[in-house]
Amino acid sequence: MHDLKKDVINDVKSMLEYYQALGFDSLPISSKFPVSSHIEFSAGKNETLTNLREEIGDCHRCKLSRGRKNIVFGTGNPDAELMFVGEAPGREEDIQGEPFVGDAGILLTKLIEKMGFKRDSVYIANIIKCRPPMNRDPEEDEIIACRVFLDRQIDIIAPKIIITLGRIALQTLVNNDKLKITAVRGTFFEYKGIPVMPTFHPAYLLRNPKDKWLTWADVQKVMERMKNNI
Ligand code: URA
Repeated sequence: MHDLKKDVINDVKSMLEYYQALGFDSLPISSKFPVSSHIEFSAGKNETLTNLREEIGDCHRCKLSRGRKNIVFGTGNPDAELMFVGEAPGREEDIQGEPFVGDAGILLTKLIEKMGFKRDSVYIANIIKCRPPMNRDPEEDEIIACRVFLDRQIDIIAPKIIITLGRIALQTLVNNDKLKITAVRGTFFEYKGIPVMPTFHPAYLLRNPKDKWLTWADVQKVMERMKNNI
């Protein structure tokens, strides 16, 4: 191969790696998102999320602080178009300080990859940031103390679509404690103008693997909407 050709290939390769490192899944050539402003915006979102994490500090706003090892803030791309919201950290998440890293997390990561994303190109958070004892459901006072931080994370990230995992994430985010996940999964709701797709919690799917295809159907609706730019 001529040297010039090799150089061009290497240049293109480094450019693609550079954009990948910035979290892009595709090249930002749309006129809607001029490259420079997009990159500056990413840095701004990252910093704003870091400031929010600092504001939370060594939180003692609710009783869960007594038993937790780590605050599980959230993880992923601050510029994510797709955000997943779960319920609360479990044992493994409490130890590692990252959401969805236990068995349910492994299944969630597989789902994300099956959708065509990398785990670190989306954003993952929970309704509350500390593990409830014995993995019980979060209590109202704990949700009230904590969800404001999730609200602010969503405001900063401004995803195009949110997927809620399980009943508590859906009921809390859309403020309706009557909703039954089996009845409403697969239908879009809204949170501050952002479409919200409820689906089963991956922990439920581990216990009921025959329902995985229902979650696959739910996320296909999300992929369709993202493909058509909503
Ligand atoms: N279940 C959740 O809802 N969130 C996690 O982070 C882990 C398990």
